[in-house]
Amino acid sequence: MRITNVESIVLQYDMDEPLGYAQGYYHQRTAHLVRIDTDEGLSGIGEIFGAGNVAFANQAIVRHVLAPLLTGRNPLDVNAIWHDLYNHLRDHGQKGMPIASISGLDIALWDILGKSTGLPLYQLLGGKCRDDYVAYGYGMMFQKRDDLEESYAAEARRIVEMGFRALKMKIGMGVARDTSLATAVQLAAGSGIKLMADANHAYSPGEAISIGNALRDLGFYWFEEPIMPEDYQGYRTVRRALAGLQIAAGEAEWTRFGHRELLTRECVDILQPEVAATGGISEFMKILSMAHAFGTPVIPHVWGSDVLIAVDMHLLAVIPDLPGGLHQFEPMLEYDTTPNLFHSQLLVEPLNIIEQVNANGGRVRPPERPGIGIELDEDFVAHHRVA
Ligand SMILES: [Mg+2]
Repeated sequence: MRITNVESIVLQYDMDEPLGYAQGYYHQRTAHLVRIDTDEGLSGIGEIFGAGNVAFANQAIVRHVLAPLLTGRNPLDVNAIWHDLYNHLRDHGQKGMPIASISGLDIALWDILGKSTGLPLYQLLGGKCRDDYVAYGYGMMFQKRDDLEESYAAEARRIVEMGFRALKMKIGMGVARDTSLATAVQLAAGSGIKLMADANHAYSPGEAISIGNALRDLGFYWFEEPIMPEDYQGYRTVRRALAGLQIAAGEAEWTRFGHRELLTRECVDILQPEVAATGGISEFMKILSMAHAFGTPVIPHVWGSDVLIAVDMHLLAVIPDLPGGLHQFEPMLEYDTTPNLFHSQLLVEPLNIIEQVNANGGRVRPPERPGIGIELDEDFVAHHRVA
């Protein structure tokens, strides 16, 4: 089997209402998909992390740098191809957009491997360590309104009513406001609900420790990206100061080499690699093994279309227990509950996360069909394609 074509597909549409986080507001939804075609009629689908105009820059990397390296190769040489692509780009970027671009292509190659063998991705990766797992409801993003406490509280209630047993909110508005928002969400969510807060590296270590103390007092489960990802020493300082509150990060880290720094420098309690940015499925599995060798749990970062969510649903199934036991720590699936056509309309058969959550006590199962197990709605793709 040979690769005959590599297609980069950027989808975009205007959102009804902008939604924000500590670094800015989204006015548009963007999804950057890739499709790799072969001479045997099989095609693989992948997705590249990177919102807004970043997607167009990644598209140029795919089209001009990576696609020519893939054409003519055997798509089943997944690991060999990964290292060839990485070695080709190493001198031009060991983090960021080059690695994200490799990630999406690696995902598409795994999809071809699954389709060519008739096996779902979780089976290719060694089989399910769990049949189902908790999905946590992501929401409570910044909105341009003064009564954010009330809207956060209403949204927390709505997500709990959907059946989610764990929630994540955005913070990053300063110590006093974050404390007020976290208190509003904690009261609205009620007892028995896991709560997480994500600052998207908005703070200095000193500020992060102040907010972390408030989150710890409110019983939050983790504090995500408190400080800038480059500051490994700062992460260690924050983590030591906030003993009893788990520090989570990793979405802004790249490859086994970057994640090695988070682990050896004792930066995090929970590692959150993003499969569509950090190097794809091949690299995610290596990072997972390395993290477990340090005794550090992995809970994937998820921010993308239903293509990427499907990939993560397989990954959640194959993450081994750490360390193993009757009442086991479980990784969770991050699921964005804000309005998103790339969740509701992109696939011929939707993943039905909300329906599964509602019917199964907050738990979901991975797709069962070969590869990633999804099929794009080509009419939807054509309608929303911008590049
Ligand atoms: Mg985050």
